[in-house]
Amino acid sequence: QILGTSSSSSGAFISVARAFSSSTTPIKATLFPGDGIGPEIAESVKQVFTAADVAIDWDEHFVGTEVDPRTNSFLTWESLQSVLKHKVGLKGPMATPIGKGHRSLNLTLRKELNLYANVRPCYSLPGYKTRYDDVDLITIRENTEGEYSGLEHQVVKGVVESIKIITRKASMRVAEYAFLYAKTHGRKKVSAIHKANIMQKTDGLFLQCCDEVARKYPDIEYEKVVIDNCCMMLVKNPALFDVLVMPNLYGDIISDLCAGLVGGLGLTPSCNIGEDGIALAEAVHGSAPDIAGKNLANPTALLLSGVMMLRHLKLNKQAEQIHSAIINTIAEGKYRTADLGGTSTTTDFTKAICDHL
Ligand code: NAD
Repeated sequence: QILGTSSSSSGAFISVARAFSSSTTPIKATLFPGDGIGPEIAESVKQVFTAADVAIDWDEHFVGTEVDPRTNSFLTWESLQSVLKHKVGLKGPMATPIGKGHRSLNLTLRKELNLYANVRPCYSLPGYKTRYDDVDLITIRENTEGEYSGLEHQVVKGVVESIKIITRKASMRVAEYAFLYAKTHGRKKVSAIHKANIMQKTDGLFLQCCDEVARKYPDIEYEKVVIDNCCMMLVKNPALFDVLVMPNLYGDIISDLCAGLVGGLGLTPSCNIGEDGIALAEAVHGSAPDIAGKNLANPTALLLSGVMMLRHLKLNKQAEQIHSAIINTIAEGKYRTADLGGTSTTTDFTKAICDHL
């Protein structure tokens, strides 16, 4: 079901071979503004898309105020149906209520929609100086199991257990996706990240699957790197890596590390890929409760996620236009949000991007 090729300069975007109309007939897409800074940055996306004349008709869904028994989470059944129907969407961050006895919103979405791979491109933005100016990485995170299986319980008082599940099916699926992604996006190398020296059974099976898939791609360099060593190598020299594929928890952590290499969580997008041709784009970051409601959030990560969604829809011209406007606004340096050392509000930064279209 996957993939087309990408025309982005960084090669970082994904596009999926599904026939969407590129006419001006609006394409229906689900939008979850989400929690915390979510509504503010979702508003930015809506404004920029409107200014760029993108023909998307948003089907907006909000996090419920009560647990929906049909999903056992605050996510309503109707929201899930919306994504299943439109097969494409953009999701703002959703806060995880701690220890409330129902499923996390993000886990519900990933499980119910079978969003098996989370693609997280991370690249240096021209004109925004960090320690490196040549970061160009793709983290592909297994998205449905591992440490995030949601199987946790108290064994006896003072002892709790959290079960890490790795299956051949999910590991093969994400490994296949990673290698196919590498091939179709002109990438040279896939690194499987693991801790199989300690987690011999679980990470061992994950690696076996990666090995098996790698044999089908003799033209793509393949290596296995232990997660702790991977962290050190990424910080020392990110150019050593290209596409990285890994189990769920490692992907969560490594992609934040990668975000730190290019300027922080305000900048890094992602797209969740599902088995039924579903693509649900979302920023890597969370709901940022510390700055929520203050007009301080950087909308770039969600905007770039929106760009990934447009590429998936084959709306490449608009994707490129919005991408360039974001990059040029940041490079110019006049309007930047506080996380990038600037003093602009979310609103002013968004307006500046619209002016750069
Ligand atoms: P976070 O990503 O929300 O915030 C970490 C730090 O980065 C904070 O200092 C925050 O202000 C900053 N930051 C994040 N996004 C930013 C942006 N766009 N602009 C400027 N600064 C930004 O991580 P957290 O505080 O650990 O999590 C908060 C909540 O979000 C938790 O409930 C967590 O479970 C949830 N979460 C959701 C998702 C998701 O929906 N996919 C992902 C991660 C965390």
